[in-house]
Amino acid sequence: MGYAEDWGELMFGLQCLTKSSAKRQFRQAIRQSWGGLCCYCRDRRATTLDHIKPRSRGGSNLRSNLVPACVECNHSKGSEVNWIAWYQRQDFYSKVAQEVIEEWIDNTHYEENNGTTDDRTTICLTASTV
Ligand SMILES: [Zn+2]
Repeated sequence: MGYAEDWGELMFGLQCLTKSSAKRQFRQAIRQSWGGLCCYCRDRRATTLDHIKPRSRGGSNLRSNLVPACVECNHSKGSEVNWIAWYQRQDFYSKVAQEVIEEWIDNTHYEENNGTTDDRTTICLTASTV
C-alpha cells in the first residue's frame, strides 16, 4: 500500500498505535506529497489541510478530499463548493496545478461509499477507545 486513504488505515496496519499519532502521520504524509507547500499558490508553506469539497457541504475526510494549503488560501477558499471556480479567480492560478489537483482527487483507493474505509475506521476507533 503506497499511502493511507484515511488515517484509520494507519492504525489498522499497526503503523500507528494511537489515534493522535495516526492522524499526525496521515496529515504529514499529505503535506510531504506536495513538498510542504500550499497546493494552490505553491508559494507559501502549507500549515493547514484544505477540504477540497468543504465539510459543510458533505466533503469527506479522506485523503482524496484533503490537500495541503496555506492559511491564506484556505481562508480565501472558505466554503466555496466549486474549488475550480475559486481557483481560476486567483492570481496564482495555473492550469497545470489544477490538473495535478484533479489527479489527486481521482487517485483514490476506495469509492467513498462502499463501506470499506468506514468499516476499518470503525474497528480502529472501537479499539482505541478501550
Ligand atoms: Zn496558498
